[in-house]
Amino acid sequence: MDSIQREEMEVDVVIVGGGSAGLSAAIRLQQLVNEHNEKNPDSAMEPMIVVLEKASEVGAHSLSGAVMNPCALKELIPDYEEQGCPILSDVKKEAVYYLGEDFKVKSPIVPPPFKNHGNKIVSLSQMTRWLGSKAEEMGIHVFAGFSAVETLFDGDKVVGVRTGDRGLDKDGNPKENFEAGMIIKAGVTIFADGTRSPLFKRVSEKLNLREGKNPEVFELGVKEVIQLPKGGIEAGTVIHTMGFPLNKGVGGTFIYGLPDDQVVVGLCVYLDTSDPLLDVHRELQKLKTHPFMRDLLKDGQVIGYGGKTLPAGGWYSMPKLYSAGMLVSGDAASMVDVKKLKGIHLAMKSGMLAAETSFEAMKKGDFSEESLSSYAEKIEQSVVKDDLWATRNFHQTISKGIFLAAPEMMIQEVTGGRGLWDKMPILHKDSETTKSVLDIWGAEGVDHKDNQLPEPDNKLFYDKLSSVYMTGTMHDEDSPNHLKLQDGNVCQDVCYPKYKSPCNHFCPASVYEMIEDENKEGSKKLQINYTNCIHCQTCDIKCPFNNIDWTLPEAGGGPNYQQM
Ligand code: SF4
Repeated sequence: MDSIQREEMEVDVVIVGGGSAGLSAAIRLQQLVNEHNEKNPDSAMEPMIVVLEKASEVGAHSLSGAVMNPCALKELIPDYEEQGCPILSDVKKEAVYYLGEDFKVKSPIVPPPFKNHGNKIVSLSQMTRWLGSKAEEMGIHVFAGFSAVETLFDGDKVVGVRTGDRGLDKDGNPKENFEAGMIIKAGVTIFADGTRSPLFKRVSEKLNLREGKNPEVFELGVKEVIQLPKGGIEAGTVIHTMGFPLNKGVGGTFIYGLPDDQVVVGLCVYLDTSDPLLDVHRELQKLKTHPFMRDLLKDGQVIGYGGKTLPAGGWYSMPKLYSAGMLVSGDAASMVDVKKLKGIHLAMKSGMLAAETSFEAMKKGDFSEESLSSYAEKIEQSVVKDDLWATRNFHQTISKGIFLAAPEMMIQEVTGGRGLWDKMPILHKDSETTKSVLDIWGAEGVDHKDNQLPEPDNKLFYDKLSSVYMTGTMHDEDSPNHLKLQDGNVCQDVCYPKYKSPCNHFCPASVYEMIEDENKEGSKKLQINYTNCIHCQTCDIKCPFNNIDWTLPEAGGGPNYQQM
Protein backbone atom coordinates (compact mmCIF):
# COMPACT_ATOMS: atom_id res chain seq x y z
CA MET A 1 0.00 0.00 0.00
CA ASP A 2 3.03 2.29 0.25
CA SER A 3 2.89 2.99 -3.49
CA ILE A 4 -0.50 4.71 -3.15
CA GLN A 5 -0.78 8.20 -4.64
CA ARG A 6 -2.04 10.46 -1.90
CA GLU A 7 -3.49 13.93 -2.05
CA GLU A 8 -1.50 16.46 -0.10
CA MET A 9 -2.89 19.40 1.81
CA GLU A 10 -0.91 22.22 3.42
CA VAL A 11 -2.49 23.72 6.52
CA ASP A 12 -1.29 25.94 9.31
CA VAL A 13 -2.47 23.91 12.28
CA VAL A 14 -3.82 20.38 12.33
CA ILE A 15 -5.56 19.25 15.50
CA VAL A 16 -5.80 15.51 16.02
CA GLY A 17 -9.03 14.83 17.93
CA GLY A 18 -12.31 16.75 17.94
CA GLY A 19 -13.02 16.42 21.66
CA SER A 20 -13.07 19.11 24.34
CA ALA A 21 -9.30 19.77 24.12
CA GLY A 22 -9.09 19.82 20.33
CA LEU A 23 -12.18 21.94 19.73
CA SER A 24 -11.18 24.43 22.44
CA ALA A 25 -7.80 24.73 20.74
CA ALA A 26 -9.44 25.37 17.37
CA ILE A 27 -11.92 27.94 18.72
CA ARG A 28 -9.29 29.82 20.73
CA LEU A 29 -6.95 29.93 17.75
CA GLN A 30 -9.63 31.34 15.48
CA GLN A 31 -10.57 33.90 18.17
CA LEU A 32 -6.94 35.08 18.29
CA VAL A 33 -6.80 35.32 14.51
CA ASN A 34 -10.06 37.33 14.45
CA GLU A 35 -8.79 39.70 17.16
CA HIS A 36 -5.52 40.16 15.27
CA ASN A 37 -7.32 40.86 12.00
CA GLU A 38 -9.60 43.45 13.61
CA LYS A 39 -6.63 45.30 15.02
CA ASN A 40 -4.38 44.81 11.99
CA PRO A 41 -6.50 44.82 8.85
CA ASP A 42 -3.39 45.48 6.75
CA SER A 43 -1.68 42.32 7.89
CA ALA A 44 -4.74 40.12 8.20
CA MET A 45 -4.09 36.40 8.65
CA GLU A 46 -6.16 33.65 7.09
CA PRO A 47 -4.76 30.46 8.49
CA MET A 48 -6.18 27.08 7.68
CA ILE A 49 -7.12 25.26 10.89
CA VAL A 50 -8.16 21.64 10.53
CA VAL A 51 -9.62 19.35 13.20
CA LEU A 52 -9.61 15.60 12.50
CA GLU A 53 -12.14 13.49 14.42
CA LYS A 54 -12.24 9.71 14.03
CA ALA A 55 -15.90 9.39 15.06
CA SER A 56 -18.63 9.51 12.44
CA GLU A 57 -19.76 12.80 13.98
CA VAL A 58 -18.24 15.12 16.54
CA GLY A 59 -19.21 14.00 20.06
CA ALA A 60 -20.02 10.40 19.13
CA HIS A 61 -16.89 9.12 20.92
CA SER A 62 -17.02 11.60 23.80
CA LEU A 63 -17.93 10.19 27.19
CA SER A 64 -17.39 11.40 30.71
CA GLY A 65 -19.21 11.42 34.07
CA ALA A 66 -19.67 14.40 33.93
CA VAL A 67 -19.60 17.16 36.52
CA MET A 68 -17.61 19.94 34.91
CA ASN A 69 -15.72 22.82 36.43
CA PRO A 70 -16.88 25.56 34.02
CA CYS A 71 -13.83 27.84 34.44
CA ALA A 72 -12.28 27.10 31.03
CA LEU A 73 -15.59 27.17 29.17
CA LYS A 74 -16.39 30.54 30.78
CA GLU A 75 -13.06 31.89 29.56
CA LEU A 76 -13.48 30.49 26.06
CA ILE A 77 -17.12 31.45 25.50
CA PRO A 78 -18.19 33.76 28.36
CA ASP A 79 -21.88 33.72 27.37
CA TYR A 80 -21.96 29.96 26.82
CA GLU A 81 -25.35 29.55 28.49
CA GLU A 82 -26.96 32.26 26.33
CA GLN A 83 -25.39 30.63 23.28
CA GLY A 84 -27.19 27.38 24.05
CA CYS A 85 -24.45 25.24 25.60
CA PRO A 86 -26.27 22.08 26.77
CA ILE A 87 -25.75 22.38 30.53
CA LEU A 88 -28.01 19.77 32.13
CA SER A 89 -28.03 21.16 35.66
CA ASP A 90 -26.10 23.11 38.26
CA VAL A 91 -24.90 20.94 41.12
CA LYS A 92 -27.48 21.48 43.87
CA LYS A 93 -26.85 18.91 46.58
CA GLU A 94 -24.08 16.51 47.37
CA ALA A 95 -23.52 13.46 49.54
CA VAL A 96 -20.83 10.84 50.08
CA TYR A 97 -21.51 7.32 51.35
CA TYR A 98 -19.51 4.31 52.32
CA LEU A 99 -21.31 1.14 51.23
CA GLY A 100 -20.89 -2.15 53.07
CA GLU A 101 -22.41 -5.38 51.71
CA ASP A 102 -25.89 -4.42 52.90
CA PHE A 103 -25.53 -1.14 54.78
CA LYS A 104 -24.55 2.44 54.10
CA VAL A 105 -22.82 5.10 56.17
CA LYS A 106 -23.25 8.72 55.15
CA SER A 107 -20.21 10.95 55.58
CA PRO A 108 -21.12 13.77 58.02
CA ILE A 109 -19.35 16.25 55.76
CA VAL A 110 -18.64 16.31 52.05
CA PRO A 111 -14.83 15.80 51.87
CA PRO A 112 -13.02 18.54 49.88
CA PRO A 113 -12.35 16.46 46.73
CA PHE A 114 -16.06 15.73 46.40
CA LYS A 115 -17.22 19.34 46.79
CA ASN A 116 -18.85 20.40 43.54
CA HIS A 117 -20.47 23.69 44.43
CA GLY A 118 -20.47 25.91 41.32
CA ASN A 119 -19.88 23.01 38.94
CA LYS A 120 -22.20 21.93 36.12
CA ILE A 121 -23.60 18.55 35.19
CA VAL A 122 -23.17 17.92 31.47
CA SER A 123 -23.24 15.15 28.91
CA LEU A 124 -19.81 15.38 27.31
CA SER A 125 -21.06 13.90 24.04
CA GLN A 126 -23.70 16.64 23.82
CA MET A 127 -21.33 19.39 24.91
CA THR A 128 -18.71 18.31 22.39
CA ARG A 129 -21.31 18.39 19.60
CA TRP A 130 -22.13 21.95 20.64
CA LEU A 131 -18.44 22.97 20.68
CA GLY A 132 -18.10 21.39 17.23
CA SER A 133 -20.98 23.50 15.91
CA LYS A 134 -19.38 26.66 17.38
CA ALA A 135 -16.07 25.81 15.68
CA GLU A 136 -17.80 25.29 12.33
CA GLU A 137 -19.69 28.59 12.68
CA MET A 138 -16.28 30.26 12.96
CA GLY A 139 -15.14 28.74 9.68
CA ILE A 140 -12.88 26.08 11.15
CA HIS A 141 -12.62 22.89 9.10
CA VAL A 142 -13.87 20.12 11.36
CA PHE A 143 -13.52 16.82 9.50
CA ALA A 144 -15.50 14.11 11.30
CA GLY A 145 -14.98 10.56 10.07
CA PHE A 146 -11.27 11.19 9.46
CA SER A 147 -8.65 9.67 11.70
CA ALA A 148 -4.99 10.54 11.77
CA VAL A 149 -3.18 7.21 11.65
CA GLU A 150 0.43 8.23 11.16
CA THR A 151 2.56 11.14 12.28
CA LEU A 152 4.83 12.60 9.63
CA PHE A 153 8.35 13.62 10.53
CA ASP A 154 11.17 15.54 8.96
CA GLY A 155 14.02 14.20 11.08
CA ASP A 156 12.74 14.72 14.60
CA LYS A 157 10.39 17.52 13.62
CA VAL A 158 6.67 16.70 13.39
CA VAL A 159 5.40 18.06 10.08
CA GLY A 160 1.83 16.75 9.97
CA VAL A 161 -0.18 13.56 9.81
CA ARG A 162 -1.56 11.04 7.35
CA THR A 163 -5.23 10.16 7.55
CA GLY A 164 -6.35 6.55 7.34
CA ASP A 165 -7.29 4.72 4.15
CA ARG A 166 -10.95 3.82 3.81
CA GLY A 167 -12.54 0.92 2.00
CA LEU A 168 -10.06 -1.86 2.85
CA ASP A 169 -11.32 -5.40 3.29
CA LYS A 170 -10.54 -7.74 6.19
CA ASP A 171 -7.20 -8.67 4.65
CA GLY A 172 -6.21 -5.10 3.93
CA ASN A 173 -7.01 -5.21 0.19
CA PRO A 174 -8.76 -2.24 -1.46
CA LYS A 175 -12.50 -2.68 -2.08
CA GLU A 176 -14.52 -0.85 -4.73
CA ASN A 177 -15.12 2.08 -2.42
CA PHE A 178 -11.42 2.47 -1.56
CA GLU A 179 -10.29 6.01 -0.73
CA ALA A 180 -6.65 6.69 0.00
CA GLY A 181 -5.82 8.67 3.14
CA MET A 182 -4.41 12.15 2.74
CA ILE A 183 -1.11 13.74 3.69
CA ILE A 184 -1.78 16.83 5.79
CA LYS A 185 1.30 18.99 6.26
CA ALA A 186 1.12 21.52 9.08
CA GLY A 187 3.30 24.04 10.90
CA VAL A 188 1.94 22.77 14.21
CA THR A 189 0.28 19.46 14.99
CA ILE A 190 -1.71 19.49 18.24
CA PHE A 191 -2.34 16.01 19.62
CA ALA A 192 -5.66 16.13 21.47
CA ASP A 193 -6.91 12.65 20.75
CA GLY A 194 -7.70 11.57 24.25
CA THR A 195 -6.70 8.91 26.68
CA ARG A 196 -3.82 6.61 25.60
CA SER A 197 -3.63 8.56 22.34
CA PRO A 198 -2.54 5.93 19.81
CA LEU A 199 -0.71 8.48 17.70
CA PHE A 200 0.97 10.38 20.50
CA LYS A 201 2.01 7.08 22.13
CA ARG A 202 4.34 6.47 19.18
CA VAL A 203 5.47 10.09 18.96
CA SER A 204 6.41 10.15 22.63
CA GLU A 205 8.38 6.90 22.20
CA LYS A 206 10.24 8.20 19.15
CA LEU A 207 11.03 11.58 20.71
CA ASN A 208 11.58 10.22 24.22
CA LEU A 209 9.01 12.61 25.67
CA ARG A 210 8.39 10.46 28.76
CA GLU A 211 11.98 10.29 29.91
CA GLY A 212 12.23 10.92 33.67
CA LYS A 213 8.44 10.86 34.11
CA ASN A 214 6.32 8.43 36.08
CA PRO A 215 4.68 5.86 33.81
CA GLU A 216 1.20 6.55 32.51
CA VAL A 217 -1.45 4.76 34.59
CA PHE A 218 -5.19 4.67 34.11
CA GLU A 219 -8.65 4.08 35.49
CA LEU A 220 -11.43 2.35 33.60
CA GLY A 221 -14.85 3.91 34.02
CA VAL A 222 -18.22 2.64 32.85
CA LYS A 223 -21.51 4.43 33.18
CA GLU A 224 -25.18 3.97 32.52
CA VAL A 225 -27.98 6.47 32.07
CA ILE A 226 -31.14 5.23 33.78
CA GLN A 227 -34.67 6.51 33.31
CA LEU A 228 -36.53 6.65 36.63
CA PRO A 229 -40.25 7.08 37.25
CA LYS A 230 -41.53 10.63 37.72
CA GLY A 231 -40.03 12.26 40.81
CA GLY A 232 -37.26 9.62 40.95
CA ILE A 233 -34.36 12.03 41.52
CA GLU A 234 -33.80 15.77 41.68
CA ALA A 235 -31.67 17.15 38.86
CA GLY A 236 -28.40 18.45 40.29
CA THR A 237 -28.03 15.71 42.92
CA VAL A 238 -24.45 14.45 43.12
CA ILE A 239 -23.66 11.34 45.17
CA HIS A 240 -20.33 9.52 45.44
CA THR A 241 -19.91 6.13 47.09
CA MET A 242 -16.95 3.96 48.07
CA GLY A 243 -16.76 0.36 49.21
CA PHE A 244 -19.24 -2.17 47.80
CA PRO A 245 -18.96 -3.83 45.36
CA LEU A 246 -15.18 -3.43 45.01
CA ASN A 247 -13.10 -5.62 47.25
CA LYS A 248 -10.08 -6.45 45.10
CA GLY A 249 -9.50 -3.09 43.49
CA VAL A 250 -9.60 0.61 44.31
CA GLY A 251 -12.22 2.89 42.84
CA GLY A 252 -15.50 4.61 43.45
CA THR A 253 -18.87 5.41 42.04
CA PHE A 254 -20.67 8.52 40.88
CA ILE A 255 -24.40 9.16 40.72
CA TYR A 256 -25.66 12.32 39.05
CA GLY A 257 -29.28 13.44 38.88
CA LEU A 258 -30.27 14.75 35.42
CA PRO A 259 -33.41 16.56 34.27
CA ASP A 260 -36.47 14.51 33.28
CA ASP A 261 -35.95 11.93 36.05
CA GLN A 262 -32.82 10.48 34.52
CA VAL A 263 -29.80 9.48 36.54
CA VAL A 264 -26.21 8.65 35.66
CA VAL A 265 -24.68 5.75 37.58
CA GLY A 266 -20.99 5.13 37.00
CA LEU A 267 -18.06 3.23 38.43
CA CYS A 268 -14.33 3.88 38.00
CA VAL A 269 -11.62 1.41 38.97
CA TYR A 270 -7.83 1.84 38.90
CA LEU A 271 -6.21 -0.43 36.38
CA ASP A 272 -3.22 -1.15 38.63
CA THR A 273 -5.37 -3.77 40.36
CA SER A 274 -3.76 -7.19 40.79
CA ASP A 275 -7.14 -8.85 40.09
CA PRO A 276 -6.96 -10.79 36.79
CA LEU A 277 -10.76 -11.11 36.72
CA LEU A 278 -11.63 -7.43 37.12
CA ASP A 279 -14.79 -6.73 35.17
CA VAL A 280 -16.00 -3.18 35.68
CA HIS A 281 -19.25 -3.78 33.78
CA ARG A 282 -20.07 -6.67 36.12
CA GLU A 283 -19.18 -4.56 39.17
CA LEU A 284 -21.53 -1.82 37.95
CA GLN A 285 -24.35 -4.38 37.72
CA LYS A 286 -23.49 -5.62 41.22
CA LEU A 287 -23.52 -2.06 42.57
CA LYS A 288 -27.19 -1.81 41.62
CA THR A 289 -28.04 -4.79 43.84
CA HIS A 290 -27.11 -2.85 46.99
CA PRO A 291 -30.18 -1.93 49.08
CA PHE A 292 -29.27 1.78 48.86
CA MET A 293 -29.09 1.61 45.07
CA ARG A 294 -32.18 -0.58 44.76
CA ASP A 295 -34.15 2.11 46.61
CA LEU A 296 -32.67 4.90 44.52
CA LEU A 297 -33.19 3.10 41.19
CA LYS A 298 -36.56 1.50 41.91
CA ASP A 299 -38.47 0.82 38.65
CA GLY A 300 -35.61 2.29 36.62
CA GLN A 301 -34.82 1.37 33.03
CA VAL A 302 -31.25 1.56 31.70
CA ILE A 303 -31.25 3.60 28.49
CA GLY A 304 -27.55 4.21 27.85
CA TYR A 305 -24.16 2.60 28.46
CA GLY A 306 -20.55 3.48 27.72
CA GLY A 307 -17.00 3.13 28.93
CA LYS A 308 -13.62 4.79 28.66
CA THR A 309 -10.26 4.87 30.36
CA LEU A 310 -8.95 8.01 31.94
CA PRO A 311 -5.37 8.89 32.78
CA ALA A 312 -4.74 8.65 36.53
CA GLY A 313 -1.05 9.45 36.98
CA GLY A 314 -1.45 13.24 37.12
CA TRP A 315 1.35 15.81 37.10
CA TYR A 316 4.31 13.45 37.40
CA SER A 317 3.00 11.25 34.56
CA MET A 318 2.65 14.14 32.14
CA PRO A 319 5.03 13.84 29.18
CA LYS A 320 7.14 16.69 27.86
CA LEU A 321 4.38 18.74 26.24
CA TYR A 322 6.13 20.11 23.16
CA SER A 323 8.70 19.34 20.55
CA ALA A 324 9.52 20.79 17.14
CA GLY A 325 6.22 21.09 15.25
CA MET A 326 3.99 19.60 17.95
CA LEU A 327 2.08 20.13 21.19
CA VAL A 328 -0.01 17.72 23.24
CA SER A 329 -3.02 18.54 25.42
CA GLY A 330 -5.84 17.07 27.47
CA ASP A 331 -6.17 13.37 28.29
CA ALA A 332 -3.45 12.52 25.76
CA ALA A 333 -1.08 14.38 28.10
CA SER A 334 -2.47 12.76 31.30
CA MET A 335 -4.18 16.00 32.34
CA VAL A 336 -6.88 14.65 34.64
CA ASP A 337 -7.33 15.52 38.31
CA VAL A 338 -8.20 11.99 39.29
CA LYS A 339 -8.81 12.87 42.94
CA LYS A 340 -11.73 15.08 41.96
CA LEU A 341 -12.55 13.07 38.81
CA LYS A 342 -12.24 16.24 36.74
CA GLY A 343 -10.53 16.60 33.39
CA ILE A 344 -12.81 18.50 31.01
CA HIS A 345 -11.72 21.95 32.19
CA LEU A 346 -8.05 20.89 32.05
CA ALA A 347 -8.49 19.50 28.55
CA MET A 348 -10.16 22.73 27.43
CA LYS A 349 -7.64 25.02 29.10
CA SER A 350 -4.63 23.11 27.79
CA GLY A 351 -6.15 23.18 24.31
CA MET A 352 -6.60 26.95 24.60
CA LEU A 353 -2.99 27.38 25.72
CA ALA A 354 -1.81 25.18 22.85
CA ALA A 355 -3.75 27.54 20.55
CA GLU A 356 -2.10 30.62 22.05
CA THR A 357 1.32 29.04 21.61
CA SER A 358 0.53 28.05 18.02
CA PHE A 359 -0.69 31.56 17.26
CA GLU A 360 2.55 33.11 18.50
CA ALA A 361 4.53 30.58 16.46
CA MET A 362 2.45 31.32 13.35
CA LYS A 363 3.09 35.06 13.70
CA LYS A 364 6.83 34.43 13.97
CA GLY A 365 6.78 31.72 11.33
CA ASP A 366 8.84 29.68 13.77
CA PHE A 367 7.65 26.17 14.71
CA SER A 368 10.88 25.05 16.30
CA GLU A 369 11.03 23.32 19.67
CA GLU A 370 12.29 26.50 21.28
CA SER A 371 9.46 28.56 19.86
CA LEU A 372 6.82 26.08 21.08
CA SER A 373 8.41 25.63 24.51
CA SER A 374 6.40 28.58 25.85
CA TYR A 375 3.45 26.15 26.00
CA ALA A 376 4.99 24.42 29.03
CA GLU A 377 5.45 27.81 30.74
CA LYS A 378 1.82 28.69 30.06
CA ILE A 379 0.69 25.35 31.52
CA GLU A 380 2.84 26.03 34.62
CA GLN A 381 0.94 29.26 35.22
CA SER A 382 -2.52 27.87 34.66
CA VAL A 383 -5.27 25.95 36.40
CA VAL A 384 -3.73 22.81 34.87
CA LYS A 385 -0.70 23.13 37.13
CA ASP A 386 -2.76 24.37 40.11
CA ASP A 387 -5.07 21.35 40.04
CA LEU A 388 -2.60 18.66 39.09
CA TRP A 389 0.12 19.88 41.43
CA ALA A 390 -2.24 19.63 44.41
CA THR A 391 -2.86 15.95 43.61
CA ARG A 392 0.57 14.99 42.30
CA ASN A 393 1.03 12.12 44.75
CA PHE A 394 -2.60 11.03 44.94
CA HIS A 395 -2.60 8.00 42.68
CA GLN A 396 0.58 6.66 44.22
CA THR A 397 -1.08 6.84 47.66
CA ILE A 398 -4.62 5.66 46.95
CA SER A 399 -3.25 2.61 45.17
CA LYS A 400 -2.45 1.19 48.62
CA GLY A 401 -6.20 0.97 49.30
CA ILE A 402 -8.52 3.62 50.71
CA PHE A 403 -8.06 2.78 54.41
CA LEU A 404 -4.27 2.41 54.29
CA ALA A 405 -3.99 5.57 52.24
CA ALA A 406 -6.28 7.76 54.35
CA PRO A 407 -3.66 9.20 56.81
CA GLU A 408 -1.21 10.06 54.02
CA MET A 409 -4.01 11.59 51.95
CA MET A 410 -4.93 13.85 54.87
CA ILE A 411 -1.32 15.02 55.12
CA GLN A 412 -1.30 15.68 51.38
CA GLU A 413 -4.52 17.66 51.73
CA VAL A 414 -2.95 20.08 54.25
CA THR A 415 0.44 20.31 52.53
CA GLY A 416 -0.85 21.20 49.10
CA GLY A 417 -0.26 17.71 47.72
CA ARG A 418 3.32 17.23 49.00
CA GLY A 419 2.61 14.74 51.80
CA LEU A 420 5.44 12.90 53.50
CA TRP A 421 7.20 11.92 50.30
CA ASP A 422 7.41 13.97 47.15
CA LYS A 423 7.85 12.95 44.36
CA MET A 424 6.31 9.54 44.95
CA PRO A 425 7.23 7.18 42.13
CA ILE A 426 4.86 4.86 40.30
CA LEU A 427 6.77 1.61 40.30
CA HIS A 428 4.69 -0.40 37.87
CA LYS A 429 2.74 0.12 34.70
CA ASP A 430 -0.83 -1.20 34.85
CA SER A 431 0.18 -4.15 32.65
CA GLU A 432 2.69 -5.29 35.29
CA THR A 433 0.47 -5.56 38.35
CA THR A 434 -1.80 -8.51 37.50
CA LYS A 435 -1.43 -11.62 39.68
CA SER A 436 -2.55 -15.17 39.01
CA VAL A 437 -6.15 -16.27 39.51
CA LEU A 438 -4.95 -18.72 42.14
CA ASP A 439 -3.20 -15.95 44.11
CA ILE A 440 -6.21 -13.65 44.08
CA TRP A 441 -9.24 -15.94 44.02
CA GLY A 442 -7.89 -19.26 45.28
CA ALA A 443 -9.12 -22.56 43.88
CA GLU A 444 -12.63 -21.18 43.22
CA GLY A 445 -11.30 -18.77 40.59
CA VAL A 446 -13.98 -17.54 38.19
CA ASP A 447 -16.64 -19.51 40.10
CA HIS A 448 -16.19 -17.41 43.24
CA LYS A 449 -19.48 -15.78 44.18
CA ASP A 450 -17.98 -12.29 43.82
CA ASN A 451 -17.34 -12.97 40.14
CA GLN A 452 -20.96 -13.66 39.27
CA LEU A 453 -23.10 -11.27 37.24
CA PRO A 454 -26.51 -10.49 38.80
CA GLU A 455 -29.34 -12.12 36.81
CA PRO A 456 -30.03 -9.80 33.83
CA ASP A 457 -33.63 -8.53 33.65
CA ASN A 458 -33.04 -6.19 30.65
CA LYS A 459 -34.46 -3.41 32.74
CA LEU A 460 -31.98 -2.52 35.44
CA PHE A 461 -29.50 -5.39 35.00
CA TYR A 462 -27.83 -6.25 31.71
CA ASP A 463 -25.28 -8.70 30.40
CA LYS A 464 -22.32 -7.11 28.66
CA LEU A 465 -23.35 -7.75 25.08
CA SER A 466 -26.79 -6.23 25.66
CA SER A 467 -25.11 -3.21 27.25
CA VAL A 468 -22.80 -2.82 24.24
CA TYR A 469 -25.86 -2.73 21.99
CA MET A 470 -26.86 0.51 23.76
CA THR A 471 -23.60 2.21 22.73
CA GLY A 472 -24.63 2.18 19.05
CA THR A 473 -21.21 0.75 18.17
CA MET A 474 -20.61 -0.08 14.51
CA HIS A 475 -17.54 -1.17 12.57
CA ASP A 476 -17.59 -2.50 9.02
CA GLU A 477 -17.38 -6.30 9.37
CA ASP A 478 -15.29 -6.43 6.21
CA SER A 479 -12.57 -4.08 7.40
CA PRO A 480 -9.20 -4.88 8.96
CA ASN A 481 -9.13 -5.89 12.63
CA HIS A 482 -7.67 -2.89 14.45
CA LEU A 483 -6.77 -4.94 17.54
CA LYS A 484 -3.35 -6.32 16.71
CA LEU A 485 -2.47 -9.43 18.66
CA GLN A 486 1.30 -9.90 18.83
CA ASP A 487 1.39 -13.61 19.67
CA GLY A 488 -1.73 -15.77 20.02
CA ASN A 489 0.31 -18.62 21.56
CA VAL A 490 0.90 -16.49 24.65
CA CYS A 491 -2.88 -16.21 25.15
CA GLN A 492 -3.31 -19.97 24.80
CA ASP A 493 -0.25 -21.37 26.53
CA VAL A 494 0.56 -18.88 29.28
CA CYS A 495 -2.17 -16.31 29.87
CA TYR A 496 -5.25 -18.55 30.00
CA PRO A 497 -3.78 -21.18 32.33
CA LYS A 498 -2.41 -18.64 34.81
CA TYR A 499 -4.64 -15.56 34.51
CA LYS A 500 -7.80 -16.93 32.85
CA SER A 501 -7.43 -14.32 30.08
CA PRO A 502 -7.95 -10.94 31.79
CA CYS A 503 -9.00 -9.36 28.47
CA ASN A 504 -12.12 -11.57 28.50
CA HIS A 505 -13.07 -9.88 31.76
CA PHE A 506 -11.78 -6.30 31.71
CA CYS A 507 -12.98 -5.44 28.21
CA PRO A 508 -16.27 -3.58 28.80
CA ALA A 509 -17.57 -4.61 25.38
CA SER A 510 -17.09 -8.41 25.19
CA VAL A 511 -14.58 -8.13 22.39
CA TYR A 512 -12.29 -10.91 23.60
CA GLU A 513 -13.43 -14.50 24.00
CA MET A 514 -11.46 -17.70 24.62
CA ILE A 515 -13.11 -20.34 22.46
CA GLU A 516 -12.35 -24.00 21.74
CA ASP A 517 -9.46 -24.34 19.30
CA GLU A 518 -10.68 -26.67 16.57
CA ASN A 519 -7.08 -27.43 15.57
CA LYS A 520 -5.87 -28.42 19.04
CA GLU A 521 -8.06 -30.71 21.09
CA GLY A 522 -8.71 -29.58 24.65
CA SER A 523 -7.13 -26.21 23.96
CA LYS A 524 -8.54 -22.71 23.66
CA LYS A 525 -7.72 -19.81 21.41
CA LEU A 526 -8.50 -16.11 21.54
CA GLN A 527 -11.30 -14.83 19.32
CA ILE A 528 -11.42 -11.06 18.80
CA ASN A 529 -14.89 -9.66 18.04
CA TYR A 530 -13.40 -6.33 17.00
CA THR A 531 -16.63 -4.86 15.66
CA ASN A 532 -17.88 -4.53 19.27
CA CYS A 533 -14.98 -2.31 20.32
CA ILE A 534 -15.98 0.92 22.09
CA HIS A 535 -12.45 2.36 21.87
CA CYS A 536 -11.76 2.46 25.61
CA GLN A 537 -8.12 1.31 25.15
CA THR A 538 -8.10 -0.94 28.26
CA CYS A 539 -6.67 -3.89 26.31
CA ASP A 540 -3.72 -1.78 25.14
CA ILE A 541 -3.07 -0.81 28.75
CA LYS A 542 -3.84 -3.85 30.90
CA CYS A 543 -2.90 -7.02 28.98
CA PRO A 544 -0.25 -8.58 31.28
CA PHE A 545 1.90 -9.46 28.29
CA ASN A 546 1.45 -6.20 26.35
CA ASN A 547 0.20 -8.54 23.68
CA ILE A 548 -2.52 -6.28 22.26
CA ASP A 549 -1.86 -3.16 20.26
CA TRP A 550 -4.91 -0.91 19.83
CA THR A 551 -4.59 0.73 16.43
CA LEU A 552 -7.00 3.08 14.71
CA PRO A 553 -9.88 1.31 12.95
CA GLU A 554 -11.41 2.66 9.76
CA ALA A 555 -12.63 6.16 10.57
CA GLY A 556 -16.30 6.56 11.37
CA GLY A 557 -16.44 3.25 13.28
CA GLY A 558 -16.90 2.91 17.03
CA PRO A 559 -19.56 3.96 19.49
CA ASN A 560 -22.22 6.52 18.75
CA TYR A 561 -22.78 8.14 22.12
CA GLN A 562 -25.74 10.51 22.26
CA GLN A 563 -26.12 11.37 25.92
CA MET A 564 -22.91 10.12 27.58
FE1 SF4 B 1 -11.76 -1.40 25.09
FE2 SF4 B 1 -9.96 -3.01 23.95
FE3 SF4 B 1 -12.41 -3.90 24.54
FE4 SF4 B 1 -12.05 -2.15 22.53
S1 SF4 B 1 -11.28 -4.23 22.63
S2 SF4 B 1 -13.65 -2.06 24.10
S3 SF4 B 1 -10.40 -0.90 23.37
S4 SF4 B 1 -10.84 -3.26 25.98
